Amino acid sequence: MPNIGGPELLLILAVVLIVFGAGKLPDVLGQLGKGVRSFRDESTNEKATQTAGTATAATAAPGTTVYCRNCGRPNGADSKFCTNCGQAL
Ligand SMILES: [Zn+2]
Repeated sequence: MPNIGGPELLLILAVVLIVFGAGKLPDVLGQLGKGVRSFRDESTNEKATQTAGTATAATAAPGTTVYCRNCGRPNGADSKFCTNCGQAL
């Protein structure tokens, strides 16, 4: 790959301007940006989905059951105290 410096970049920019026209340049850059962004979003979403799936599996139906920290007995999500030992939940 040739060493691309400032002058070469300006030349490329000039060619791009000639090919696409100065008016279309924002569109072209926008499309390019969208492409990169959607690609990044996809890889990020994939990671997020994987993380969410793991978290959901580990937590096991959050909001339905609260397990007592003292005796481990399951209590209703809105329980304030354990029904077995009275430990504050
Ligand atoms: Zn308890």
